[in-house]
Amino acid sequence: MPSLTPITEPNISQVNVVDCAPGSDALKELRDDMTIPEISVIIPVYNEEDNLELLYEKLLISLTGTKRTWEVILIDDGSKDTSFAELQKLAANDKRIKVVRFVRNYGQTAALAAGIEHAQGKVIIPMDADLQNDPADINALLDKIDEGYDVVSGWRKDRKDGLWLRLIPSWTANKIISYISKVQLHDYGCSLKAYRREVIKDVRLYGEMHRFVPIYATWQGAKVTEIPVTHHARQYGQSKYGINRTFKVVLDLITVKFMSTYFTKPIYVFGTAGMMSFLTGMAAFVWMLVLKFAYHTTFIETPLPVLVCMFVMLGVQFILMGLLAEILMRTYHESQDKKIYSVGESINIKKS
Ligand code: UDP
Ligand code: MG
Repeated sequence: MPSLTPITEPNISQVNVVDCAPGSDALKELRDDMTIPEISVIIPVYNEEDNLELLYEKLLISLTGTKRTWEVILIDDGSKDTSFAELQKLAANDKRIKVVRFVRNYGQTAALAAGIEHAQGKVIIPMDADLQNDPADINALLDKIDEGYDVVSGWRKDRKDGLWLRLIPSWTANKIISYISKVQLHDYGCSLKAYRREVIKDVRLYGEMHRFVPIYATWQGAKVTEIPVTHHARQYGQSKYGINRTFKVVLDLITVKFMSTYFTKPIYVFGTAGMMSFLTGMAAFVWMLVLKFAYHTTFIETPLPVLVCMFVMLGVQFILMGLLAEILMRTYHESQDKKIYSVGESINIKKS
């Protein structure tokens, strides 16, 4: 992870003020610099009409308090209520409010991905539109980033959601995720997080994967921490999720783990399963012969012949699948010129 200048450092300092004559390049650079906000807040919006005005007011207070330049990108994820009209009103009065509207509902992850794509800030802060997250916490997240962390995750310590459908499944999921990923966080599901731009800009998000960004980041060498954040009960509108999200999250975790461990060598996974299956088939075959010649049990008296066929065929299939996965993986890396490693820093080596 490349080390960065602290975000509080004003951009102006890079420009020599003496050179700033009217019309000069330095002046242009200064102007361009100033138009790039330091913070980008990203907010997916799906049927949140009653929350938006209050959300804007709270953001305004909180972001002004940070004394940094900012933008808020709201992504209307195909809302069926008047959310978009509300957003239009907000954007008309404040140019720092930017809006992207999807043609239909694609889901929170897609909305976040669109927001990240348009974000210009050095720190990217996703949060929910329903006021369950409190914009007042943004300052505390930024303080941690200033301390040198690359990712600061919110932890809804006193979470105001239903016990059975939310708190217990989420507690279990957090334990499993922490165990499998070896990244210890209390609350992966909290939308309110802060990322240094470099950490999140190139991450491709699928399914429910936005919650795993801190894991990817840690694997890439980023410094991750968490701080308790305030959580409110939803006042207006309804939650868009039910219990089945927990299952999706766990399935996504399996994908993430697979990608991280075996992505560059899928044949190791499929090949191992294939070999085991093949060997089991062979053992059943030998046992079948022993039974026949030593104990005079004919082949058709036991299920062994069927098992032999099944395990041997399964074994061959697994190995073939592994080979296919290897081809796919190579196409993936080579067609996009992707490296199988990522470099943090290098010394005395020219960047090509
Ligand atoms: N959301 C979205 N698209 C969807 C579902 C949700 O943009 O298909 C947004 C929603 O408007 C909110 C955030 O994602 O800003 C979190 O959704 P919700 O509050 O329903 O989730 P919960 O807090 O219940 O986990
Ligand atoms: Mg919510």
